[in-house]
Amino acid sequence: MTVASIEAGTRFPEFDAEQSYSMIIDGEHVAAADGRTFRCLDPFEDAEWGYVPIATEADVDRAVAAARRAFPAWAGTSPWARLEIFRRWSALLREHTAELARLQVHENGKTITEMTLAAGSLAASLDHLAQSALSIHGATVAPVMPGHEAWSVRVPLGVVGAIAPWNNPLGLLASKLFPALVSGNTIVIKPSEVTPVSTIRLVELAHEAGVPAGVVNVVTGDGAVGAALSNHPDLDKVAFTGSSATGRKVAEAAGRNLARVTLELGGKGANIVFADADIPHAVEGLATGTLAGTGQACNAGSRIFLHEDVREEVLEKLKARLAAVRIGDPLDPTNEIGPLASRAQYRKVTGYFQVAADEPSTSLIQGARKGTEIPDVAAGLFVEPTLVDTPDRNSRLRREEIFGPVASVITFRTEDEVVAAANDTEFGLVSGLWTRDLDRARRVSKRLDTGVVWINTWRAFSGNVPFGGRKASGIGHELGLDPFADYTELKAVWLGPDQSGPA
Ligand code: NAD
Repeated sequence: MTVASIEAGTRFPEFDAEQSYSMIIDGEHVAAADGRTFRCLDPFEDAEWGYVPIATEADVDRAVAAARRAFPAWAGTSPWARLEIFRRWSALLREHTAELARLQVHENGKTITEMTLAAGSLAASLDHLAQSALSIHGATVAPVMPGHEAWSVRVPLGVVGAIAPWNNPLGLLASKLFPALVSGNTIVIKPSEVTPVSTIRLVELAHEAGVPAGVVNVVTGDGAVGAALSNHPDLDKVAFTGSSATGRKVAEAAGRNLARVTLELGGKGANIVFADADIPHAVEGLATGTLAGTGQACNAGSRIFLHEDVREEVLEKLKARLAAVRIGDPLDPTNEIGPLASRAQYRKVTGYFQVAADEPSTSLIQGARKGTEIPDVAAGLFVEPTLVDTPDRNSRLRREEIFGPVASVITFRTEDEVVAAANDTEFGLVSGLWTRDLDRARRVSKRLDTGVVWINTWRAFSGNVPFGGRKASGIGHELGLDPFADYTELKAVWLGPDQSGPA
């Protein structure tokens, strides 16, 4: 453990805590129609900063109307002309990587290492998508009707509403914003109320690069603003990342409006260690699954399944690894975990410490201290990495997404038993297994009911590999080899027989 090392209040001299920020509608910086604002929170200092508008329904309406007006011209702009704009935008993103990384740390308390990686990948991802846009294509087909020809083209959908969470604010927005814009759609973004300012900055840079007014709009505020956007009848698609509970509401709204929808939702990843695993690597994978993003990651490995033959060995090593974790100021690159992102998140995660203490079958293996109880840390919205033994399948620790550095440990004997237990959850986002037996790896990966399966690795990502969940973890995919499939529509065009001859 390590002390919170940098003096509070002096950490972000470049941001004025009293500054007011604006939404961006139709290329203009605007306040909310009724002037209401809310404040951001630096979770390390537990101190408020900035004033951010709370959009009214009328503001959301104006943003959607602006996106609708901008759509025909943007969709009709040649891909080459758009590519020029995206090149300028990605150059600005490179120039502003450090600023965007620091802003996100100020907002959500994730480590500077993680946020620099996330901010640094924005430009590369935009470059890749912008270049790929030139290969969006349809097909020519020979229809069965005599004398006819037919072909398909891919056309943009229209106006997209994008609603994002706080845990990787720009990365999870980029996987919607970039493919939407690159394929000719316009967009209204509702960032999380925890992380609004980094999104506003990203969109300011888009305008600086030459994205025309109305093509990208940002409305800020809490869930009510998200609801106003997702219920808006003039959206062609809603792209949502967030909790499964909110995802259900977004899907209902999209269903009523018959808007297309993609949902990237919660998870409860199973990280399985078989007896023949390479134990040191497996332990590092378990630590990553527990600690990454201070456990505030949809792809956390928050259920750890250990074969009974290696349980004690793995647990001893994992306990030592977690006990040695450096906790502290997320701006200090030597720290592995920072505070939780918000007071609400702190209440939620520490509430589960109480649940663990109350459940008769659950026992604490290590951790469960918070803030002031952690030696050397003694401040802030911190919690200690925590392991709990949860033999009962009904344990809330084992079933619910905690979204903190808390993992539930489960012992198993057979492959069938662990596959059934790993799939015994409403979620289906990610899972992983550690084994040296390739046949087992192939078999088990087929049987795990999740959108992503990692074998002998955890949290591997690449823009050209799809990411998406099954069951309550979502509908659809982001990234992958066809990133535009969910942002374009196939349109069939028919040409009748030659009319130059006799009728
Ligand atoms: P959340 O559902 O509370 O909020 C997400 C967004 O939805 C926020 O912008 C919020 O203001 C908005 N919102 C809230 N109520 C709304 C409503 N009724 N209608 C429309 N929008 C509404 O989630 P969160 O706490 O911001 O994020 C954490 C969750 O996101 C976790 O469950 C995590 O697993 C999930 N997540 C999933 C992925 C993935 O790719 N599958 C990635 C990151 C996070």
